[in-house]
Amino acid sequence: MSQYIKDLMAEVKAKNPAEPEFHQAVQEVAESLALVLDRHPEYRAAKILERIIEPERIITFRVPWVDDQGEVHVNRGFRIEMNSAIGPYKGGLRFHPSVNQGILKFLAFEQVFKNSLTTLPMGGGKGGSDFDPKGKSDLKIMRFCQAFMSELFRHIGPDTDVPAGDIGVGGREIGYLFGQYKKLRNEFTGVLTGKGLNWGGSLIRPEATGYGAVYFAAEMLGIKKQTLEGKVCLVSGSGNVAQYTVEKVNQLGGKVVTLSDSNGYIYDEAGIDKDKLAYVMELKNVRRGRMKEYADKYKSAVYTELNQNADFNPLWNHKAHCAFPSATQNEINGKDAENLVKNGVYVVSEGANMPTNLDGVKVFLDNKILYGPGKAANAGGVATSGLEMTQNSMRMPWTREEVDNRLHMIMKSIHKTCVDVSERFGVPGNYVIGANIGGFLKVADAMIDQGVV
Ligand code: NDP
Repeated sequence: MSQYIKDLMAEVKAKNPAEPEFHQAVQEVAESLALVLDRHPEYRAAKILERIIEPERIITFRVPWVDDQGEVHVNRGFRIEMNSAIGPYKGGLRFHPSVNQGILKFLAFEQVFKNSLTTLPMGGGKGGSDFDPKGKSDLKIMRFCQAFMSELFRHIGPDTDVPAGDIGVGGREIGYLFGQYKKLRNEFTGVLTGKGLNWGGSLIRPEATGYGAVYFAAEMLGIKKQTLEGKVCLVSGSGNVAQYTVEKVNQLGGKVVTLSDSNGYIYDEAGIDKDKLAYVMELKNVRRGRMKEYADKYKSAVYTELNQNADFNPLWNHKAHCAFPSATQNEINGKDAENLVKNGVYVVSEGANMPTNLDGVKVFLDNKILYGPGKAANAGGVATSGLEMTQNSMRMPWTREEVDNRLHMIMKSIHKTCVDVSERFGVPGNYVIGANIGGFLKVADAMIDQGVV
């Protein structure tokens, strides 16, 4: 690590205490950018990196709400408006008890580079709450969403900041949030993405992150003149991203053998085919049940409860060719990464944001596997949100084929950017550096053009 990056990281840690995920995300990007900062002293002079790691604005607010029994609850709401150099702030809302400012700052920071990579005009943002939607009635969810939007509405808008979903925020929550925004503002605009199809949503948006991560894996395999046909794949999570990852892997002839939730994972050697996936979708999206039930229904599957004290996750310790981490941050540590490599995995395409910690990333890079970091591999979701914004502005929806083709083209273009940039900077095949520098350049140049603001 250069002295400049060491000093920068020391300052980041001192100024942002107790935000380990943010430190981790900044360190990974800063180390990659050392190459570009050496070649472009103008970025150092304009303090682009120092400015890019400082959010333009952080909004924190109280979310008081009353449940169906009349009990009052208080949660904390956030919106991190990170960078608007190339477009309105754009990024999801996460509802999960682990949510805090540091986690949202890491996500907003990653989002800046990811959105730039899509080639669409979107800045970076992220938000959410420490509210736990798990097991709550629809009425409770609606009350919370309305309370949350009662404050957020004054900070967002179709040309200012356009939130979407993330962990714990799916179609149901976006509906309640949109309804409250519309009521308070008295206007029907594309202020959120991931909307319902009959009120401004885009076809393929629900599928986009998972499909995109698989398209990205297919592009990486293409470098080796291979396809997903016959490949055995490990997928973690069982939410939006995981479900559509399984669907696309199946369509392209691969076989997915794992899925998980925060209680444990299933290993189904026979593969999670179309019918089993339909069961998972009903289980998770309608009945909101647990993955354990999958093993009760399908005898080919083995369920393993999560052991919080173990120093590795057994999900990543099965023979396979590809891995699609699609649950949450830091779900693959150094040992998990070693287990993946040992078991023959040579393609990792990250559906989740920062699912691999710094030790794990090092293992993937040292072993020269095809490793697509989240900000490139999972950019299909926000890209399709960008396409939803375009359709809203035109007031005209595109067909499923049109959106899917555009998504596919965008994922190919992100892959090409990563490959080209990594070659240009003398580290061919390093998608981490390719994605970080590829995303950085457009934002950095826009910031220079717009002066010190
Ligand atoms: P969902 O809420 O639909 O699903 C999340 C899944 O991950 C659930 O199976 C959940 O299990 C599991 N999970 C969440 N937190 C943890 C945890 N701390 N430990 C273990 N398992 C956990 O979210 P998404 O599928 O939308 O998001 C998954 C990942 O993809 C996140 O990292 C998100 O930031 C990223 N992402 C999502 C995009 C999107 O378009 N939705 C776009 C780009 C990235 P349980 O039900 O038990 O909580």
